[in-house]
Formats: sequence, structure tokens, C-alpha cells
Amino acid sequence: TRDAVLHRQHSRESAARTYARTFPIVPVRADGMTVEGADGRRYLDCLSGAGTLALGHNHPVVLDALRRTLDSGAPLHVLDLATAEKDDYTGALFENLPRDFAESAKVHFCGPAGTDAVEAALKLTQTATGRRGVLAFTGAYHGMTAGALAATGNVAVKQPLPTGGEVTRLPYPYAYRCPFGVGGERGAELSAAYVERLLDDPSGGVLPPAAMILEAVQGEGGVIPAPDGWLREMRRITAERGIPLIVDEVQTGAGRTGAMWAVEHSGIVPDVMVLSKAIGGSLPMAVVVYHEDYDGWQPGAHTGTFRGNTLAMAAGAATLRHIAAAGLAERAAVVGARMTERLTALRGELPVIGDVRGRGLMIGVELVDPSGTPDTCGAHPAAPELAARVRAGCLARGLIVELGGRHDAVLRLLPPLTITDEQAEAVLDRLADAIAEASA
Ligand code: PMP
Repeated sequence: TRDAVLHRQHSRESAARTYARTFPIVPVRADGMTVEGADGRRYLDCLSGAGTLALGHNHPVVLDALRRTLDSGAPLHVLDLATAEKDDYTGALFENLPRDFAESAKVHFCGPAGTDAVEAALKLTQTATGRRGVLAFTGAYHGMTAGALAATGNVAVKQPLPTGGEVTRLPYPYAYRCPFGVGGERGAELSAAYVERLLDDPSGGVLPPAAMILEAVQGEGGVIPAPDGWLREMRRITAERGIPLIVDEVQTGAGRTGAMWAVEHSGIVPDVMVLSKAIGGSLPMAVVVYHEDYDGWQPGAHTGTFRGNTLAMAAGAATLRHIAAAGLAERAAVVGARMTERLTALRGELPVIGDVRGRGLMIGVELVDPSGTPDTCGAHPAAPELAARVRAGCLARGLIVELGGRHDAVLRLLPPLTITDEQAEAVLDRLADAIAEASA
């Protein structure tokens, strides 16, 4: 059946399928971190629905919430009407938002995807400021709809659309391959100084923007954590110039980075937060949460048919409360640090590992060609073909790992926050084996 299903989908589905090509699996069952294919093979899942499955597949807390809601007779779709489920979800969300942000925050339920919430955030700040332009960063990923795509950096997915919006691209503090040719903290300082100078340069060509949008840890861009000091600089620079700061926590949110929200590491308080993926507890959900001062929309100014599905709210509320009650963000910090440490040690043995970085259970391993000429930061050329071979080697060993980054040379580990110590060891054993084999 596996081959028949794959063949039918191949002939009927769009050529833009990505994961389906890389991972020729027809999942029939999944539990926690394990996915079982139609051919009976089992895999450890380090992709987790692109970071969506904070509690792994089919967690009992999620299944119970879904069963209870289904059995209650509650309507599953009610546009944006108030329901007990929405009330409960909003409660769970606000209980878990950073306290000083939640105090004066409002939530808007968006369409089901992260990109819908990004669109809403851009439009909201454009409405509030009466301005149009957006400041976004190199390596950024914000989604595939016109506004979010304009803010996204990756040229391969932007072409050939002349994307909407006027976006000024700023240098993200990518320590390993700093755009200013200096690595580490100094590179981040230079990037912050550049942003400030550009905004203040009367001939810099940047009109006062509607917003700055950033990820505290870039995900698709190659798992790049911004230093806390740099994030505080972005907060200062935007605050001093009256520019709303949108933090896109679609991938970093809900415990992933070792805190409930990635902004909590640096302590910055954004004006707008964009949330999706894990906040729906495996079901589609996206919201934009913002300071009440930005609440400039008239009724009906931003609508849509699917805005907060009852089942997603039930699963999402149960997930957020379970992450908090079980201390899963703290656990992500501990397990993530241990995994990162072991990978860093492995770097000594395998020179194709150029960089190991991340925060919590959002870990990136950048693969390089150690025989190539290093750049001024000391980084060797990226090795995308090797990375693709490692990904295939992982799959052959029963491990699902996706790539990301500028050159598709970064292995991205996004295991569920519920990963056990044994599973973490198994992931690293298989990964180490696959890297050693592919680079031999
Ligand atoms: N923002 C970030 C930071 C993301 O990682 C993603 C998805 N990977 C999105 C936005 C877009 O979300 P979606 O794919 O649900 O539209």
C-alpha cells in the first residue's frame, strides 16, 4: 500500500510537494516521538510537523481534550463567535504569555496558518501607524502569502513574485557567517549599529516604517539564535523611533527554546507577537497578540472564515497548560543543552560539523566543506550536498531530520518537548553515524 499511495499522490499532487519527496513515508500510526510507516518501519521524528507537535504525536492530554470536546456537542465551527472553548483558550494563552506583555494585550484570532497571523500583524501595524514599509532581516522566514513572503528573505521561495510591501532588509546577527565579516558578539554589535545608522541616515532611503519584524531564533533560516543583547538593542532602537516591534514566535513559541516564549530569554517586551504551530496542540491555529494601543481596527476590518476552530482551541489550551504544569520548557532547556553539548564535542571528531547552535530543543548543525577556503569569520563553505546525504542517512537509520539555512546545509532538530533521555541519545547516535558515513 505504501508504494501505491506514494504513486497516486505523485501523479495527482502539485509538484511543489517538498517533505513528501524527501521522506517517502506513508505514516499510519504515531505516538510521542515515534512515527510508523505503512511498511512497518518506525522513525524517531525530529521534525515534529515543522515544530508544531510540542507534546509529540497523539499525546493523551491532547486526545482527551479532543474527545471531551467532540462528546460535548459543542459546535466545531462558529466563525468568530464567543464560545466557552474560546474563552478557555484565551484564558490559557493569557495565563502563559509573558506577564508584562499580557497585562495590556489583546488577541486577534487569524486564519489557521502562521502566515495568516503575520499578514494580520503587518496590516495591524500599518493601520496603527499609517505607514507602509517593513523592516525585516536576512534569513527571515515569515510565510508564503504576499505580505509575509515580502518579509521572508529566501529568494528561492520569493521568485518570481513581485511581492507586495516595501521591505528594507537588515542584517541578522548570524555569528557563524556574520555579514560584516566578524563573528561572535562583535558581529552582532556591528549589525545593531548598522540598523541604527541606516534608520537615522537622511539619505539611507528608508521611510519611517510601519514595523520591524524579527524571529528571536531564526528557524528556517538555519536555527540562528540572536544574542540577547542584540534583541535588547532592536527593542531600544524601535522604541526610540516609535516603530512597533513584531516578534514572530510561530516556531519558537510554546516552550520550544527552553522558555515559554523566546522573548523571555532577553526580557524584551514586543508590541506584537505572532503565534501559530504548537499553540493549536497539533491542529491549525494562529493568533496575533498585541499591545492594546494598536487596537485601531474597526469591526470587520480584518476577518476570515476560519478563525479559531473549536477543536484547535481545546487541543491548544490543553497543550499550553500541560507545557506549563509539566515544566516542559525547563526540560527543553536541560535536554537541549545536553544534546548541544554532545554535538559540540562531536565537532572535534568530525570536521564537517562547522557550527552547532540553538536554544532549548531548537538545535542546528551546520555542515561545511572543511577543505574549502574559510571566510573572514573562519567559516568554511556550506555543504548542502553532504547535508542532503546526511538527511538520507538519518532516514535509513530511522530518524527524521529536516534541513534549513541559507544553503540548505543546516540539520535542524526540532524534537517534541517530551523527548526522553533515551530518545535524545538515540537521535544523537543515529545522527553521528549518518554524518560519519556521509563524510567518510
Ligand atoms: N513564521 C515562522 C517563524 C515560521 O517558522 C513559519 C513556518 N515555518 C511561519 C511564520 C509560517 O507559518 P505557516 O507555514 O503556518 O504559514
